[in-house]
Amino acid sequence: MRLLLVEDHVPLADELIAGLTRQGYAVDWLADGRDAVYQGASEPYDLIVLDLGLPGKPGLEVLREWRAGGLATPVLILTARGSWAERIDGLKAGADDYLTKPFHPEELALRIQALLRRSHGLANQPQLEAAGLQLDEGRQCVSRDGKEIELTSAEFRLLRYFMLHPGQILSKGHLAEHLYDGESERDSNVLEVHVNRLRGKLGREVIETRRGQGYRYAGVNA
Ligand code: CA
Repeated sequence: MRLLLVEDHVPLADELIAGLTRQGYAVDWLADGRDAVYQGASEPYDLIVLDLGLPGKPGLEVLREWRAGGLATPVLILTARGSWAERIDGLKAGADDYLTKPFHPEELALRIQALLRRSHGLANQPQLEAAGLQLDEGRQCVSRDGKEIELTSAEFRLLRYFMLHPGQILSKGHLAEHLYDGESERDSNVLEVHVNRLRGKLGREVIETRRGQGYRYAGVNA
């Protein structure tokens, strides 16, 4: 999953980028509200974390412009402690969730996971499950019939994306756009290698190849 972080306080941004990267998210970072309006609407983010006090353009204004332009990406806002007015204005402007500063990094991680499940129609799940596999996003491993299978970080990222889009045909280009940040090299051969390693661990049938179209997560119950 690829996230946009808009936060002008550099030490906090550094800490969040490091934490989110460890959790297997590809993160693009911006500090200026004007840049955020443009980039948030033009790149295919899966979720946006938006600070409200920003140079260039206030976060609330950024969010209003995104929603007015039809952007449906889930947005989690970061608000100042004790400012209920900010939280209410943020929710009215189209935020999906909020977190009050200072917050524990684990709370951000859990809210992001929940928001991503909800935005993919899986709100009822306490953890990500799809077609016979359960993914532990905290420990980055997958279970099948109660048996745990270890994953590398790249395999985990890929499998999480598949499990949030069960049954959908995903092209290599689409996968690369959602698994790598804006500055990474996007090599579809590398993707192919990870798909094959996942098949080696989980069974060939779990990920189907649709010739000329891409991959489709079928799970183990298909
Ligand atoms: Ca700020």
